[in-house]
Amino acid sequence: MSDDLTKDKHFKQILYGLAVAAVQTIFCWACYYVGLFRMEFIDFVYLFSACWAGHLLFVAAAFSGFHKCLNLDSLILPHMVWNGIWFLVSAYYLDRMRISVMMMFLLVMLIGSFRIKLPGFMLLAGIAIFGYGGVLYLLGQFHPETLFIATEFLQELMQWAAFSLVILFFAWMGADISGLRQALAVKNNELKDALHRISELAVRDELTGLFNRRYISEVFKTQKGMADRGGHDFVLCYLDLDHFKLVNDNYGHSVGDEVLKAYAKIAQSHVRSIDYCSRFGGEEFVIILVKTEINGAHKVVDRIRHSVENYNFQSIAPGLKVTLSVGMSQYQPYERVEDSLARADSALYRAKNAGRNCVVVADMPPRNMEVVQSAGSS
Ligand code: GH3
Ligand code: MG
Ligand code: MG
Repeated sequence: MSDDLTKDKHFKQILYGLAVAAVQTIFCWACYYVGLFRMEFIDFVYLFSACWAGHLLFVAAAFSGFHKCLNLDSLILPHMVWNGIWFLVSAYYLDRMRISVMMMFLLVMLIGSFRIKLPGFMLLAGIAIFGYGGVLYLLGQFHPETLFIATEFLQELMQWAAFSLVILFFAWMGADISGLRQALAVKNNELKDALHRISELAVRDELTGLFNRRYISEVFKTQKGMADRGGHDFVLCYLDLDHFKLVNDNYGHSVGDEVLKAYAKIAQSHVRSIDYCSRFGGEEFVIILVKTEINGAHKVVDRIRHSVENYNFQSIAPGLKVTLSVGMSQYQPYERVEDSLARADSALYRAKNAGRNCVVVADMPPRNMEVVQSAGSS
């Protein structure tokens, strides 16, 4: 049985329905055995073969998802009705034990309380009450002697009335339980959404929606771990908006905020889904490009720089132009994350000194530093 199917609650309820049908079949068989099921053996076999053929069709439909073609959300109610029909059929043939098999309607309703709403319960209650009444009417017509075997007709009617009350009560309670379950499911989904939003907030920068510093620091560590074990290369890019203080001074803080958001969109549109864009603080950003060597990363970052330079910031404020400078370093196995970041930072410093709006690749770490770090530290 596939994982999806075992997780499917609807399928589970079909299985419960099968269990009730099995109880009914065994009960009827026991009644037949002691002579209380008014039927020949071969007819008994035909009757229950037809009953179980239907049940197997329900299982097949639940397996194949066929009910969705019929626009049915689930097969639970039709299966409950199928079970109910066979309770009525066996009640017709059962002498003295009629009420016992009719009580099985209650088990079926219990299953329905997982999902069925009030109209479904009322339909089933109607089938049970009027069906039972119909069975008594047919018996009165065709087998009047069976109604008087063990009991007075009035007693039979009182049993029917009591059964009807119990069924109606069950329908009402079942619908209530089902409603509670559904309200709980809605609350659960809301809780899941809230949890998702909270965990997003914990890793995202509020203004730009990029990853925050805490999260990108964790990413550094995991990427370092993988690279040190001989996995893929990754490149750290340190980006800083040029003369951003002037943007704030000349256009105001809210325009500055819009610029930061625009940068975030541009940066994200240039990287793959496996890369990480973060706001490291203020107008400084860090991008981790994974499974990439420095030349490929250089092209990506230069495209971001070029896009920022050519972006229409006039739509935010007239005359506004923004550029950025980038320092980047290829992570060297066993290098400390801080050192890789420091190399990118000093490359950024050189980019600023070189006149800004450019990308500078960091030098390789000094040879002796590599040796010392590969011998021990994190
Ligand atoms: P440089 O080219 O050397 O990087 O010059 P700069 O002006 O960009 O550098 P500096 O670090 O002096 O200024 C950064 C400015 O970024 C100062 C600060 O007010 C601004 N800033 C930091 N965070 C935010 C923010 O969330 N919103 C806005 N609007 N401004 C911010
Ligand atoms: Mg700056
Ligand atoms: Mg800065």
